Amino acid sequence: MNDLQKKIYERFVKYAAVDTTSCGVSTAVPSTEGQLELGRMLAAEMKEIGFANVEIDKNGIVYAEVPANAQGPSIGLLAHLDTVEDYCGKDVKPVLHPNYQGGDIVISQEKNMILSPKTSPNLLKCIGHDIVTADGNTLLGADDKIGIAIIITFGEYLLTHPEIKHGPVKVSFGIDEEIGTGVAYFDLDKFKADFAYTIDGADLGKIDYGNFNADRFVIHIEGTNCHPGNAKGFMANPVRIGADIISSWPEDKLPETTEKEEGFVLFMNIQAQLDSAVVKGIVRHHDLAQFEQFKKDLEKILDEKRAKYPNAKITWEVFKQYRNMKDVLEEKPQALDILKKALADEGVEYELIQARGGTDGAQLSLRGLPTPNIFASYENAHGPFEWLSLGWSEKVFNIIKRIVEDSAQ
Ligand SMILES: [Zn+2]
Repeated sequence: MNDLQKKIYERFVKYAAVDTTSCGVSTAVPSTEGQLELGRMLAAEMKEIGFANVEIDKNGIVYAEVPANAQGPSIGLLAHLDTVEDYCGKDVKPVLHPNYQGGDIVISQEKNMILSPKTSPNLLKCIGHDIVTADGNTLLGADDKIGIAIIITFGEYLLTHPEIKHGPVKVSFGIDEEIGTGVAYFDLDKFKADFAYTIDGADLGKIDYGNFNADRFVIHIEGTNCHPGNAKGFMANPVRIGADIISSWPEDKLPETTEKEEGFVLFMNIQAQLDSAVVKGIVRHHDLAQFEQFKKDLEKILDEKRAKYPNAKITWEVFKQYRNMKDVLEEKPQALDILKKALADEGVEYELIQARGGTDGAQLSLRGLPTPNIFASYENAHGPFEWLSLGWSEKVFNIIKRIVEDSAQ
């Protein structure tokens, strides 16, 4: 590995050693102590390097800046501190596999765990790269600590290369991304960027520029209960009505029957007795008009059931979750335009993708900070087969460098 990759790698190993698993049932902010520990470590390191305005706020979010040395927009670079709770994130010991030549990578001999290009075909795009995996006992935590390592190494590069002209580069490391709660605490006024990028995601060249529109709903069914022997023409049974509502939704509009930019309704929970039932679910669609139509279609099903079961009372509530950032990014195209140019100049074939989920960037975009997501050079996140390519990490570094240089005048 070259010097740049070595710097990124050494930082990554240091950050990966801190257990920052977030916790969905915790009410603390951040949800776990380890995130504060890593945040403090990063703040100290960035102060040492010479970043300006280094701060870790009361919620554990880290902010810092590389001050401008030229005119240019203020560009934000974001990554997250936490790792997912689905798999062990404690005692992570990254293993280096130098100069990958294709074929299988043994993650753990003892557990017979093999990382193969058959199941991870993108490995074959990394011939000659140094690959990093975990040791079979944990996830790797490259999601998103390699993002952090790339960003800090990039800031260090700018600070030691004053000949590179750039506007203000704002850096922030967020909390609790994996449980979806952290971004709400992000302080846009403090950050003051014109646009930003999250460095967090798989597959070199895949750019998330859109995401689902998302609502959740709760349907309440009140029935009419009586002795089943005398129930004719009278009983309204919420157990059956709930099942009837769920099965009336078209089968080709479910998560298990849709892909790409097709939306769905997911029924997630039903609790039912003879006197009442509650059905919970979510609605997802990239297209806002079709998203609204899905909710109208659900309302229509409820109307039909109200007519079919006059002795039951059926109501529902819809709660807004998040919206597609695509419209924001198209309205303020600078972030995406500069990114596309940087990718082309770097020789990366790219594809604009609408994510089948939400991203922190989506929420930030909708709050006024256009924030597409750039891949962070890892794959297979959230499990023991997570891997990263240091060749890709360097690519990401170079793409960010071009973005920052190209934006400055
Ligand atoms: Zn992530």
